[in-house]
Amino acid sequence: MKKQFKAESKKLLDMMINSIYTHKEIFLRELISNASDAVDKLYFRSLTDDSVNLSKDDFKIIITSDKDAGTLTIEDNGCGMTAKELENNLGTIAKSGSLDFKKNLDEKTDVEIIGQFGVGFYSAFMVADKVSVLSKAFGEEKANIWISEGADGYTIEEAEKETAGTVITLYLKEDTEEDNYSDYLDTYRLSAIVKKYSDYIRYPIVMDVTTTKPSEDKEGEYEQVTETKTLNSMIPLWRKNKSEITEEEYNTFYSDKFYDFEKPAKVIHSKVEGQATYDALLYIPKRAPYDYYTKNFEKGLALYSNGVLIMDKCPDLLPDYFSFVKGLVDSADLSLNISREVLQHDYQLKLIAKTVEKKIRQELITMLRKDREIYEEFYKAFGAQLKYGLYENYGANKENLQDLLMFISSHEDKFATLEEYVERMKEGQENIYYACGETKSKIDMLPQVEAVKDKGFEILYFTENVDEFAIQMLMKYQDKGFVNVCADKLDLNTDEEKEALKKENEDAKDMLTKMKSYLDNSVNEVRFTNALKNHASCLTSEGMLSTEMEKVLNAMPGATGIKAETVLEINASHPVAARLRCIDDEKLKKYTKLLYMQARLIGGLSIEDPAEFCSLVSELME
Ligand code: ADP
Repeated sequence: MKKQFKAESKKLLDMMINSIYTHKEIFLRELISNASDAVDKLYFRSLTDDSVNLSKDDFKIIITSDKDAGTLTIEDNGCGMTAKELENNLGTIAKSGSLDFKKNLDEKTDVEIIGQFGVGFYSAFMVADKVSVLSKAFGEEKANIWISEGADGYTIEEAEKETAGTVITLYLKEDTEEDNYSDYLDTYRLSAIVKKYSDYIRYPIVMDVTTTKPSEDKEGEYEQVTETKTLNSMIPLWRKNKSEITEEEYNTFYSDKFYDFEKPAKVIHSKVEGQATYDALLYIPKRAPYDYYTKNFEKGLALYSNGVLIMDKCPDLLPDYFSFVKGLVDSADLSLNISREVLQHDYQLKLIAKTVEKKIRQELITMLRKDREIYEEFYKAFGAQLKYGLYENYGANKENLQDLLMFISSHEDKFATLEEYVERMKEGQENIYYACGETKSKIDMLPQVEAVKDKGFEILYFTENVDEFAIQMLMKYQDKGFVNVCADKLDLNTDEEKEALKKENEDAKDMLTKMKSYLDNSVNEVRFTNALKNHASCLTSEGMLSTEMEKVLNAMPGATGIKAETVLEINASHPVAARLRCIDDEKLKKYTKLLYMQARLIGGLSIEDPAEFCSLVSELME
C-alpha cells in the first residue's frame, strides 16, 4: 500500500529540491555521510559485541554506476534499518509537525532546527525521480525495501538481502538542457565529487573503475581493465598530530589545495577546545594572488564538519582585513545538513570566526617579532589590506591592527613599526611625524621634510594612497598624535623664535595680503616661516584634508575637484624674502605666482597654467 508523506513533508521535499542546496552534486556527500554514520554505529558495536563478526577493515561504502540502467547505487555494510526505522527515518522529514519550517527558512534564523530535521537523504531527489532503499538492520532476519518517486509518497515492502546494511539506488532523471544528470554515472566525475566532499570519510569508499590500458599480453594493443579503486584518502592532514606532520606535507597540501606554487609564509595548525571546538589549518601566503586587490577575489576558509566538506569558501570565517589567509576549519559542532544560505547565522560559526581571527593576529605578531624578514615580505604583499582594515568602519578594528602596521622610516631607511618609532622618540617629542608622497625620494625633496629631519626627528614615509586615511582613523598611538610635517600643525620652534616670526609677519602684513590677492585667493594665507632650510617657499595644508589626500580623492572616479585648504609659506631667511620687500607691485605679482607655482611643483601637485610658469621663468632669465 502506498503511504503518503506527512503533509509538511510534501512541501518540504519540494522546497528541499528547489531551494536548500545550491549545488546538486552534494546529494552524494549526503548519502555517503549517512552511510558512514551507519557504518560507525555498527563498528562501535563490533568493539564490544562479538556477534558482529566484521573487523575494522571489512567496513566500506561501495558506489556502483550502471550506465545502461541509468542507476547509481550507494551501498554500506553498516547498521541498516528495520521496516519501522525506514518508516520513521525516511517517511517523515519534519518530525515535529507543529513547527512552521517554511517560516524559519525564510527568516534564515534558527539553524538548530534544520539540523534536527534530517533533510540530507532527500537531496537524492534533486537528481533522481525514483529512489529505493533496500535495508537490513543488524541482528534482524528480514530485509525491507523503501521506494519513492518523490513528493507523492512511498512504499515499504519485505525484500531479500543477505547481510546487514543498506543499498540506496537512485534512478537518475533524464538529462535536460540545463542539467546533465547522466554525468553522475561517469566514474571520473563521481571520483572527483567524492574527493571534493568526502575525502576524509574514515571508511574506504570504493568503486569499480574501467580504464583503457596497453595490453599486457599483446603488444601494441589496448584493453579495457576494470579495477576496484578506493576514492578517498581517509585521514585528514589536520587531524594528525603536529609532531607527525612534516613541513613538506604541510606545504604540499597547501600547493595542492590552494594552487600557490610558492611556499606559505606561515602555517598555523591549531586544535581548539572549549566554547568552540574545532581543528584549523591555516596558511598565510607570501605573495598576493594576481586578483587579490580586485573585486573578483573571494575570501573564505573551507569549512568541514567531521571531515566532510560543507563549503569551499566560507566568507564568514575571516574578517576582510585578514582575507589573504587560506585554509580550512573542521568542526564537529556544525550540523551536516545545514545549507550554505542558513549557515551564516550559526552561532558556533561566529565563535569559531572570532577565535580564528585572534589566532591569526597572534601569529602575525609573533612573525613580526621573530621572523622579521618573512614578515616584511608578507607585509609588502598584504600591508595595504591591513591598512584598509584600519580605515574601514571608522577605525573599529584599530586595536587589532595598529601593531601590525609598518612604514618606511627615515631612521636607517627601513620598515619601522609604530612601537619602534615611539621607543626612539626624542625627549619632549609629542607627535609621530610623517610625510606623504609618491615615493620616498620625492618625499625627501619636500622642503618641510628637509627641515624636520634637520632638527633630528624621525619621519615615516607614507607612499600608499591609503596610508594617511588609515592613520587619521587611528588618531593616536600610545597617546602620541600623528603630524603630517606638511600640515599646519607642525610646531618645532622655541618661544623666542615664535615671537620673532610673529613680528616679521605683522610687519609685512600689507605685502602678504597683496600677495594673497594676486593668487586669486587660491590659498588661505601667505606668510613667512622659519621652518624651511634651502627652499624659498612651500605649501602647507590646513584642516583635515592634506594636499596628499586631495590628490587621492581627485584621482577617484566621479571626483568633484576637492581642494585642500593651503597656506603659501615663504622662507623668511631666504634671499628671496628680502627681495620681495623692495620690488614694485608688478614684479611682486609675478614673484608671488612663481613662488606659489614652485611650491606646488615641489609638493607633487600640478600647476594650472604651465605656459605662464614658463614665460615667467624666461622673463627672469632675460
Ligand atoms: P540526518 O542524517 O540529518 O539524520 P537524513 O535525512 O539524511 O538526516 O537521514 C535520516 C535518518 O535516516 C538518519 O538519521 C539515519 O537514522 C537514517 N539513515 C539514512 N541513511 C542511512 C543508512 N545508509 N543506513 C542506516 N540509516 C540511515
